[in-house]
Amino acid sequence: MVFDLHCHTTASDGALAPRELLARACEQGVTCLAITDHDTVDAYLELTGFGNAGVALCYGIELSASWHGRSVHIVGLNLRPQCEGLRTALESQQQSRRQRAEVIAKRLSQKGIKDALAGATAYAGKGMIGRPHFARFLVASGKVRDEQQAFRRYLGSGKAGDVQSGWPTVGTVTSWIRDSGGTAVLAHPAQYKMTNAKLGNLADEFVQAGGTAVEVVSGKQAPELTRRLAELANAKHLLASSGSDFHRPGQAWSELGRQSALPADVRPVWDTW
Ligand code: AMP
Ligand code: MN
Ligand code: MN
Ligand code: MN
Repeated sequence: MVFDLHCHTTASDGALAPRELLARACEQGVTCLAITDHDTVDAYLELTGFGNAGVALCYGIELSASWHGRSVHIVGLNLRPQCEGLRTALESQQQSRRQRAEVIAKRLSQKGIKDALAGATAYAGKGMIGRPHFARFLVASGKVRDEQQAFRRYLGSGKAGDVQSGWPTVGTVTSWIRDSGGTAVLAHPAQYKMTNAKLGNLADEFVQAGGTAVEVVSGKQAPELTRRLAELANAKHLLASSGSDFHRPGQAWSELGRQSALPADVRPVWDTW
């Protein structure tokens, strides 16, 4: 089995439509896929009744949360998307995204960048709007060279467009996932750039809230990082998840199903399925 339990479509900030993503997953040899768009499960609507071509689909989502003033991401796997409580929660997340986009645009206009809301919205289409859509707008309007520079100058940590939107706490988000029958997974811990001690505290709170897994592997990563995260998983009695965090073709480190292997001494999250 080849698992990929973290990737994105045009329903959030990915470049491929859900059917294109599924076809690519199949080409890449993935046999079990979770699509984890930011704060939405809409991609799955486009896949109902669509031949899955040998790829088993598992419901997924990537939810935005806050932890002591920082943004963190919690992946939910195998949840029930029809669950009433989850639907209400997602409406609120989606409203937060729209409101945050307005604030980002206002902050950018104070930096002399006009019409960013309309520009980013055009890239988001019907999908969840996020900072990557603003990045694309900034590139297209010639303000920056590429999306990396857009994050470095305008959207990344501490910059004007890094709007703390009051995401719900890790505890709240984790209970949404649990209450809808899903497994809560702490996403890509290395991205938070925390010390081991801080990451340990985050993991403790996450476990207390009912979280049961952590992404030991996110894309192609250095063996030392895999070791560090496997130790975290084992120390906190968390199951190990693995995903590419694929957003678009052409990024070799995040190709569907091509992420680094899970080490032998962790228990994969799919062991319990
Ligand atoms: P948002 O969910 O709107 O806060 O945007 C976060 C998303 O932006 C992440 O899921 C990544 O896809 C993307 N992202 C975050 N940091 C960077 C970066 N430095 N360069 C490019 N993309 C980034
Ligand atoms: Mn993203
Ligand atoms: Mn993420
Ligand atoms: Mn992601």
